[in-house]
Amino acid sequence: MFSHLPPYAGDPILSLMEQFQRDERSNKVNLSIGIYTDGKGVVPVLPSVRTAAAAVAQADAPYVYLPMEGHGAYRQAVAKLLFGADLPAPEHLAIVQTLGGSGALKVGADLIARFFPQPTIWLPDPTWDNHIGIFEGAGFKTERYPYYDAQTKGLNFEGMLAKIDSLPRGAVVLLHPCCHNPTGVDPTRAQWEQIVEVVEKRGLLPFFDLAYQGFAESLDEDIWPVREAVRRQIPFFLSNSFSKIFSLYSERIGALSVFCPQAGQAANVLGQLKLTVRRNYSSPPRNGALLVAHVLGDDKLAAQWRGEVEEMRVRVRDMRVKLASQLKSAVPDQDFSFLLRQNGMFGYTGLSSAQVDRLREEFGVYAVGTGRICVAGLNDSNVARVAETMAEVLRG
Ligand code: PMP
Repeated sequence: MFSHLPPYAGDPILSLMEQFQRDERSNKVNLSIGIYTDGKGVVPVLPSVRTAAAAVAQADAPYVYLPMEGHGAYRQAVAKLLFGADLPAPEHLAIVQTLGGSGALKVGADLIARFFPQPTIWLPDPTWDNHIGIFEGAGFKTERYPYYDAQTKGLNFEGMLAKIDSLPRGAVVLLHPCCHNPTGVDPTRAQWEQIVEVVEKRGLLPFFDLAYQGFAESLDEDIWPVREAVRRQIPFFLSNSFSKIFSLYSERIGALSVFCPQAGQAANVLGQLKLTVRRNYSSPPRNGALLVAHVLGDDKLAAQWRGEVEEMRVRVRDMRVKLASQLKSAVPDQDFSFLLRQNGMFGYTGLSSAQVDRLREEFGVYAVGTGRICVAGLNDSNVARVAETMAEVLRG
């Protein structure tokens, strides 16, 4: 019956994680997977979330199904967090709770594929691998626009803008509002202004994917391109994830928002989102929604959580500074300042795949084959060793 099923080669990053777990070296370091660990190398339970969890347990509510669109107070709280003072009126915003950011991408992709036949999505080159998997899985053709410039280890802004400016009206273009995964390279505010202007001028449909809000500058700054699209009345899709910024990876909690500038359209969009959910998994799980809604719905707890996000952001930035300065001491003829211009949990190191292999095999330091590291996996106990071993492979 199943003999025609080929074996699954495995997800490259998750397979590295399994290999890391089997590695018996006590000084091994995992910089491959996108998980934030604190200064002690531990995935934190945020104190605000711990308080919320106690309140949720205390309430002891029955485990009834949530509606297809998710938990009401959660959806309202998320809309407020995302849009702030630019919160569109309910008749302009369709928002559904999703299974993490991945679930938001999938529900959005399915909706687009149903109503805009033979869709194509333009993705940055490079992008998070699963963008390709999710959109192709939903029937999209995937194309690329220039993004990373290996020469400057920065953004190929001219190439990016020129490509976006050549796309046909209605083309779907995926944009990372901040903390680009995998490179850590983001456009500046001035560059975003031009990008959003071109998106508007050409009548494109942006799909913003926001998995790291608050990890670049701040919760409000990092979503600027999305809020600018609201101000310019550009319709868009927005997927957001609370996996990292609430440290709620396994709860699978996120949201999909669709901004509908034309009055009256949001109700139908929401209806079709509900139908998409119904056909996929019927309704979302409850616990993550209750935790996030409890934190965001309580001014004091919400302020505490904002502080916790800031603490994570600052810790990762400190690690960038330490890694760059220790690399500079070890390899003085090379410039590592590009590491300081990157944002968020990830960064391209410029290491080749052969150098990444050596780092892993000889030293037990795990990075992704593209040279991506998760800076949030560094801490004061491992950064010196990571810098030393990286310097070793860079010297050849
Ligand atoms: N988009 C991007 C750019 C990501 O980096 C990630 C997480 N690695 C996701 C979406 C998916 O987030 P989640 O784990 O919440 O599904």
